Amino acid sequence: MAVPKRKKSKSRIRMRKAHLKQPMPSATPCPKCGEPRLAHRVCPACGSYNGRQVLIKASDED
Ligand SMILES: [Zn+2]
Repeated sequence: MAVPKRKKSKSRIRMRKAHLKQPMPSATPCPKCGEPRLAHRVCPACGSYNGRQVLIKASDED
């Protein structure tokens, strides 16, 4: 089994880990209500997707 020849320095480990950060999810404002919404997801605020209502909110039933 291959074994590392030298101990990895804190600096080397940190330089490697610097690339592992999660990218920010791309949130764009909802065209209907303007709330920030993830792309290709139903808007959590108004429940619309692609210009039509797909979720019925409890407050919108009446
Ligand atoms: Zn919305």
